[in-house]
Amino acid sequence: MPESPKIIFIEDATNPKQSILKLKSALVKFPLSEEDKDVISAMKKMLFELGGTGLAAPQINVHKNITAIYIPEITASIRENAKEYPLHVLINAEYEPIEEDGKNSDFEACYSVKTVAGEVPRYNSIKVRYQTEEGEEISKIETGFYARVLQHEIDHLNGLLIIDRFTSDCLHGSFEEMMEARRQSLTVEKRVLLDKWLEEKKKKA
Ligand SMILES: [Zn+2]
Repeated sequence: MPESPKIIFIEDATNPKQSILKLKSALVKFPLSEEDKDVISAMKKMLFELGGTGLAAPQINVHKNITAIYIPEITASIRENAKEYPLHVLINAEYEPIEEDGKNSDFEACYSVKTVAGEVPRYNSIKVRYQTEEGEEISKIETGFYARVLQHEIDHLNGLLIIDRFTSDCLHGSFEEMMEARRQSLTVEKRVLLDKWLEEKKKKA
């Protein structure tokens, strides 16, 4: 891992197909190495400073199946079927869709995709398996916004980005265009929260 890790963008890749963002991540062995522990603490610090919601190791140029998720109160209040989640790390994560529960589309952006955001269809329910930082094996069914975030992050570990998930019936465009479309789709109360969230994002940028 570089001294001060930075987020990499797919648009900056000389050959996007060869970018670390497009590769399947390597599994992590337990007990964790000092290097893996350093990656985990760097990712946690970074995601907390960004204000959530998810970060996968390939996004900081590390070829490992490690992801961090943090859903702060404001994000949970803007989204449908969402609840707050403290900052936590998932290792060797994978999911299987529960197809019979169907899909829904909602807005997503990605720290590694600068030029485009938009609606992404995701499964309503998934069965997720991962290990905690302590190596405990977890297997459970997740739904709602948290299941969406898991699908976005686990996609990163399999070399897939939102640009690979857009469909012709889903709205997509620049981040600014999509934020405006998202604002319009929200209730007045949620719109106020979205504006507050965008203000906070601007301050961090
Ligand atoms: Zn992403």
